[in-house]
Amino acid sequence: MPTYDFICNQCGFLFSEFINIKDKDKVKCPKCNGSVTQRFTGFVYTRKGDSGQGGCAGSCSSCSGCK
Ligand SMILES: [Zn+2]
Repeated sequence: MPTYDFICNQCGFLFSEFINIKDKDKVKCPKCNGSVTQRFTGFVYTRKGDSGQGGCAGSCSSCSGCK
């Protein structure tokens, strides 16, 4: 079962859920319980501050997007 990334439509919170794809419509924002939009994994994140091509190179304490 893959992990899906979602972004909240209301507060913009980005998070990952480990779910069956058929349950994705039930996913709500963990912060504000708002509706969310799926983001597709494999999308290349181009955030400022990340070093290297893999985000944080395994030390995810400073990164939430490179698992
Ligand atoms: Zn939210």
